[in-house]
Order: sequence, then C-alpha cells, then structure tokens
Amino acid sequence: MKKQLLMILCAILFLSFAATANAVQIGDVNLNNEITTADARLALRQSVGLESFDGDAFSAADTNADGLVTTSDARMILRVSVGLQRFEGDFSVDFIDVGQAKSILVQCGNESMLIDAGNVADGDAVSNFLKAKGLTSLTYAVCTHAHEDHVGGFADVLDGFTVTKTVFAPEATADTACYRNFLSECEEQGKTPVVPALGSTFSLGESTVQVYGPVLTDADDLNDTSIVLKITYRDTDFLFTGDAQTPSEHAMIDNGYDLSTDVLDVGHHGSSSSTSYVFLREVMPEFAVISCGADNEYGHPNEDVLSRLHDADVNTYRTDLQGNIKVISNGKALAFYTDKNEPLAPPADDPITPPEEKPTDPPAETPTDPPANEPNIGTGEYVGNINTKKFHLPTCSSLPKEENRIYFATRDTAIANEYTPCNRCKP
Ligand SMILES: [Zn+2]
Ligand SMILES: [Zn+2]
Repeated sequence: MKKQLLMILCAILFLSFAATANAVQIGDVNLNNEITTADARLALRQSVGLESFDGDAFSAADTNADGLVTTSDARMILRVSVGLQRFEGDFSVDFIDVGQAKSILVQCGNESMLIDAGNVADGDAVSNFLKAKGLTSLTYAVCTHAHEDHVGGFADVLDGFTVTKTVFAPEATADTACYRNFLSECEEQGKTPVVPALGSTFSLGESTVQVYGPVLTDADDLNDTSIVLKITYRDTDFLFTGDAQTPSEHAMIDNGYDLSTDVLDVGHHGSSSSTSYVFLREVMPEFAVISCGADNEYGHPNEDVLSRLHDADVNTYRTDLQGNIKVISNGKALAFYTDKNEPLAPPADDPITPPEEKPTDPPAETPTDPPANEPNIGTGEYVGNINTKKFHLPTCSSLPKEENRIYFATRDTAIANEYTPCNRCKP
C-alpha cells in the first residue's frame, strides 16, 4: 500500500519536473552530488509524512519544524538522485559570515569580485576565506559604502590580494581610520577607487554586472550612497544592495531598472529601513540572504522585514543562523549550501494586529443568513491566518500565532471564505 502510494507520488513528481524550471533549492545535496536513491526515497517518504525524521539521513535544515523534509527539497533530491540534474555551476556567491557586517565573494569562471570586507576585525577571516578558495588576487573589489562594517576589512584584504582590474567605491567617503587605511592600501596597489557609472554594465567572467546604485547623489545617510549591483549569469540574477535603504529603493524603481531577481542580498542587514514592500514587489526574489550577527545590538533582522519576506514567499537565509552561505548557479538552477544547519526560525507571523473594527449596528433590512461555509473556530484540519488570509496544513512550518488563527474543517470552506493556500505546505 505504502509502496503503491510512493510509486504514484514518484510518477506525479516526475511529471511535475518539466514545470520546475525556476531556481531551486537543494540545501540537502553535497558538493559531490552524493545522494543516494535510498536517501531520495526517504526524503520523499518524509515529505509526505510516511516516515518520521530519524536524525541520521538529513540535517535539520532540510526539514521543517515537524521534522518533515519539505516537498520541494524531496523533489530536488529525487532529481539529483536519478541524475536528472547536476549541480555544477560556473558561478558562485559566498555570503561570508562576518557577524554584524557584510562581505560577499562572487566568482564566475576565473574572475572574482569581493563586495565589502566586513569590519576591521574581520579582515583576517575574510583573507583566510579567500586563501582557502585558492585565490591569490581579486578581479574587482567593491566597497559598497564607507561604513566600517563594509570597508573595515579591506585594509587587510588589499594588503594580501592584488586587484587586477578595478576597485569600486562611491563618491561619499568617511573621515575614519578604517576608510583612510582602505585608501592607502589602494594607493599601495596603484589604484584609485572608481565610482561606477550609474546604469553602466561590465562583465565578470561570463556574467554581466549592471550598476543600479548609488542612485541618490546627495544622500545624507551613507547607507544610501551604497553601490548596488545586479549580476546576471544566464537565466539567474542576483541583486547586491549594500546598506541601501527605502529612499534608494524607490529611486531605483523610479529609474526604471529591471529589479527582478532570483537571489536578493537583503539591504542593511535586514533593518526595517530597507526591503520595503514596494521594492520587494519589484524584485520578487525567490531567495534572500541576510548578513547579520547573532544577538546584534540593532535587532537585525527586523521582524517586520522577516514578515515581509515571508509574506512574499521568499526562502530566507541568514548568516547569524547558518554561518557561511554559498549559492551555486549553473545558469538555470541554484543550489544553496550552508555551514551550519540551524533551522530557520519562521518569523512571528504578522506581528501587526489588524485595526479593531468599529462596532456598527447591522442595518435592519440586511438578511442575516450565515454564509454557506461557516468557519469552525477552534477545530478543523486547516489553519487560516486572519491577517494574511492564507491557510495552512497543521504541519506547516509557518503557522500563525494562536491569536491570529482561524480553523476550517475543509479546504473548500477555507477557499469559500476567501482564504488562499499557503505556498509552502500547499494544503
Ligand atoms: Zn552595514
Ligand atoms: Zn552602512
């Protein structure tokens, strides 16, 4: 019986493969594609709840809060296990865990770009990271803006690594020791930081880099002087935003840039000053990565930002939870690899409570027939979120808080009450 069910599921999944051409997440295969058919079967069984998570075959990051492998992961494991898909890519992005700071290495073919280098104290760690990659030089170095958590580590890095093409930095500088050290290391290499021309394009290996920022030439806040780059490798796009904030986000939209992207480097460490709804709607990322430190004093990432990403069905990674995060692109699909397997805490669902409805007397002539599908408060197979109007399976990893729940006995009742199915648990 179970075997039959599994075979049917396999058939369904195979049929759906053709439709899954978008970027995908395979946090559960290693770099050698070492995944066995047995693992794939187990993942699939777990994804549908046939078998509980036993702790050996998969790491916690591969499963949701209930110890079940997510269906999308199971699909991907199956694809890889049967050789339908290989995850070798010529393009990679490393979000280096530098605590409450940012540093990102982008590599395409033989070319490399380091976007930011963390704080002064991170200089050694970033240099070691580059060395471990076998790098002895960088093609490009990009200081997104003059704040220490981005420029600080560059003095150390530039001391050890020659930049073969260009060092980019915005026009706005800072009168700080770390910025001066960055400049003097540039000078040592005979380089003057270049302000990238807005709207210009250059190549990094086979990928194309477009300059979207800084858009605000007279920004008071250094964060809004951040260099913003969109890098496209075949069918996959990455948007790197430094600490650009909402005014910059709006200006980029006004400039008519094509912001749509698969992976968003979340602005300003997940601060509420960035990642506005309007911006997210333009970017529509499938994945987001937040560079931030555990228990940082700023409260990054902000709960509202996590909620916005969650509402937009973005798979969000965080360096504070997962350490170094690597993304590989083969031009069509994406694979994520993380150092740590801390499960992603789903954001508190919709912390904003809806405005209280003013009590109004129902007009006398209104018929008081109850709707055909009355929700069953307190019981039921389906869990609705009264704020987002989405409904979930009780096993979903992103259930709303108890006070924001409404229960429906059937799927039809939920839909009749204008609730839409969650994209994760697909009830
Ligand atoms: Zn920063
Ligand atoms: Zn900043």
